[in-house]
Amino acid sequence: MKSQTRVVVIGGGIAGCSTLYHLTREGWTDVVLVERNELTSGTTWHSAAQVTNFGMTQTMVGLKSHSIALYKELSEDPDYPINYHHGDGGIRLANTEAQMDGYRHFASMARGMGVHFEVIDAAECARRHPLISTENLLGGLWDPLDGDIDPAQLCQALARRARAAGAEVYRHTPVIGLTQHPEHSWTVHTDKGDIACEIVVNACGYRVNEVGAMMGVHHPVMSMEHQYFLTEEIPAIRDAGHRMPLLRCPISDYYCRQEKNGLLLGFYEQGCKTWGMDGIDPNFVNALCPDDLDRVTDVLEGAFARMPALMDVGIHTVVNGPITYTIDGAPLVGRIPGKRNAFCIIGLRAGLGEGGGHGWLLAQQIVHGEAQYDTWVTDPRRFTSHANVELTALKAIEDYQNEFRFHFPHEHRPAGRPMKTTPLTPILAAAGAAFKVVNGWERVDYMKPGPEFHETHSFRFNETFDVVAREVAAVQTGVGICEVNGFNRIELTGAGVRDFLDRMSCSHIPRKPGKVGLCYLLNHFGALKAEATIANLPASDRGPDRVWYGSAAAAEYHDMDWLRAHLRPGEDVQIRSITNDHTIVVVAGPKSRAVMQAVSRADWSRDAFPWLSVRECFVGIAPAVVMSVSYSGELAYEIHVPNAQLYAAWLALCTAGAAHDMQVFGARAVESMRMEKGYLHWKADIVTEFDPFETGLERFVRMEKAEFIGRDALLTRQASGPQRRLVTLAIQSRDAPAHGGASVMVDGAVKGTVTSGDWGHRLGMNLAYAFVDPALATPGTEVSIDIIGRLAPAEVIAPGPYDPDHAIVRA
Ligand SMILES: Cc1cc2nc3c(=O)[nH]c(=O)nc-3n(C[C@H](O)[C@H](O)[C@H](O)COP(=O)(O)OP(=O)(O)OC[C@H]3O[C@@H](n4cnc5c(N)ncnc54)[C@H](O)[C@@H]3O)c2cc1C
Repeated sequence: MKSQTRVVVIGGGIAGCSTLYHLTREGWTDVVLVERNELTSGTTWHSAAQVTNFGMTQTMVGLKSHSIALYKELSEDPDYPINYHHGDGGIRLANTEAQMDGYRHFASMARGMGVHFEVIDAAECARRHPLISTENLLGGLWDPLDGDIDPAQLCQALARRARAAGAEVYRHTPVIGLTQHPEHSWTVHTDKGDIACEIVVNACGYRVNEVGAMMGVHHPVMSMEHQYFLTEEIPAIRDAGHRMPLLRCPISDYYCRQEKNGLLLGFYEQGCKTWGMDGIDPNFVNALCPDDLDRVTDVLEGAFARMPALMDVGIHTVVNGPITYTIDGAPLVGRIPGKRNAFCIIGLRAGLGEGGGHGWLLAQQIVHGEAQYDTWVTDPRRFTSHANVELTALKAIEDYQNEFRFHFPHEHRPAGRPMKTTPLTPILAAAGAAFKVVNGWERVDYMKPGPEFHETHSFRFNETFDVVAREVAAVQTGVGICEVNGFNRIELTGAGVRDFLDRMSCSHIPRKPGKVGLCYLLNHFGALKAEATIANLPASDRGPDRVWYGSAAAAEYHDMDWLRAHLRPGEDVQIRSITNDHTIVVVAGPKSRAVMQAVSRADWSRDAFPWLSVRECFVGIAPAVVMSVSYSGELAYEIHVPNAQLYAAWLALCTAGAAHDMQVFGARAVESMRMEKGYLHWKADIVTEFDPFETGLERFVRMEKAEFIGRDALLTRQASGPQRRLVTLAIQSRDAPAHGGASVMVDGAVKGTVTSGDWGHRLGMNLAYAFVDPALATPGTEVSIDIIGRLAPAEVIAPGPYDPDHAIVRA
């Protein structure tokens, strides 16, 4: 066994084998995999191993396409062919129009990744799958490449190729400890000796937290028991002359595929069970949980009704095994939060289908620092301190119970709520707030017009349309108040702060005390990494050099990692998160200045406190940092208050605001207004695939600065011209917004992808942002957008159509 290597991958299931193979493909061959037993002896060996191309984001579709192409290639390898039923086809069933709309959207989105799903009616479903009844069926989504693979052969094939490239695999070698050294390298302790390495990868399946504990980390991953059974031969299948397509059913929560001349049926029962929460028997190897078909009778009935042939056939094998879930159903693939040189590929609930793609994107992150797609949807840092074991269990159960029921736009499911709240949450709830969840925080989405108000989640505009319109109007014509909790806020202090930030950002860093600037941080490829509001606080008794770095709530761990990783030894910069101690209250609208004047002795005139200023003051009796910045495009003040004084500040503002009929507004109103202003959203419109020029942010780039991360790469990118351009589109449709991922079409060809879309209530326009072919970026260009299956005409317009000169916010 080697005593030194570059990467140690821990775990020899599909996750570990795929990572090892892809590391060699990306050029790192001095790499090792250690497995405590035999390869595939965790969950992988008993997987139903279906391989679909379906995903709810382009990144997921893209990585699954990679799996499918790779598995096909492996299955055709003459030296080591593996069993892969490629292209049996699969149907996701639907019995509501709302589900069909979702499928139409996912088909539009997948087309942008070169993947062609079909939305078919019930009769066509039955034609393609002769065993199903069309009772209570509207139709479905057809995935032509769906299939299944032999999981053990797949892992052996990947390990074999990795070995041939120089990697080594050590079986029966449990990792028993991990030590990290001051310069961030690791020693991996196994029962056969130590291996020194630069980087470790946790790919330990349901034992993820045994290895997590060895590095002082708890991963938000929970195992659930999951069952399928195999039937005896079914004559209709034997005689069909073709393989049956796969089925996935959100109506009765099962999946089904052909196995020999019978069927394999897997279930997602409501009375589901977590597994291994309080520890796992060390001897649970190549093992299963006891059968428990009584638990699945609720879903079994639905499957029998759909496929009556099941009623006449015997069951010959039942498989019940642990399967891992996370808080949002997507796995955790990438950097381990707060750790250096440590990655994970865990929480895979569809690891056979996805594993090829996840290993590929993880290997790219390890070797190059970034993957070719933006991987935020699987980034482990999207969950922060709230993601404890109890919350993870509740969300895992909820997700399991809803396995094939995708989230609708604006849908936030109830399990594990409320998790993070402020003193205002109960007050806003009592006043009728509907909440959304942002990084665990309960944030007001909109104010319900009455206790009976109920939102029907849909891909179309729904009953919240008029509610949001009224909130926007209140802000536009008078004054509104909004709590923005969980906003990521980092305080940087020390004499080196401004030089440090200058190096981190391609933008101008405000150096004048009392000034605020919007700044962008790039990665080493010159593409967009982060967006931050940098507030240069005036010197006070709290110190001379204090800068507040503010960014999206979801960026809490991500941005902290990025800043910390680039501090130079000896640099006089201290970094501390104050995200969980402070909350923002936004007061916005033409009467907001009058409200501020009434609650604070400071001078709020335009000359004393112009746009993009910051000051410390009191709001009533509450200490506050106030910034004159606006995401809505109206005159606005962001008031940052310690949580202990939040209620005091809120009371003072509401008392002063009552004279102006101040109204509470929520995140949906903000979303509508920011679309009209041309403001972008991190990880919707700002992604690591595009640079600031492509994203229309050239006004924030200072190429004349001698040094900033990504500068050289950005110069090269600039010279070769944009791959895509972010544009604003005005859509001629009042039915539905353009959802992120929808395809922009010209003459039947995909020419771009929507990143955000919403109705602009002040302008009365259906607006979208999209990355399009640069040739289409000129205002006036006409395109279509495939919005839930219909081509809506749209025109490229100049960005930020509401108050384009920012006269309102400067007033
Ligand atoms: C009944 C069932 C049906 C399924 N059907 C499908 C399906 O149809 N399609 C699909 O895509 N997915 C399916 N899945 C899910 C899929 O099987 C898993 O996502 C996948 O197998 C997980 O692979 P893994 O590599 O992450 O974990 P595992 O296969 O569990 O591998 C982890 C490995 O790490 C090793 N390990 C743990 N601790 C240590 C240590 N300390 N030192 C060294 N090694 C260690 C273990 O021994 C194990 O081999 C199904 C799962 C179940 C239970």
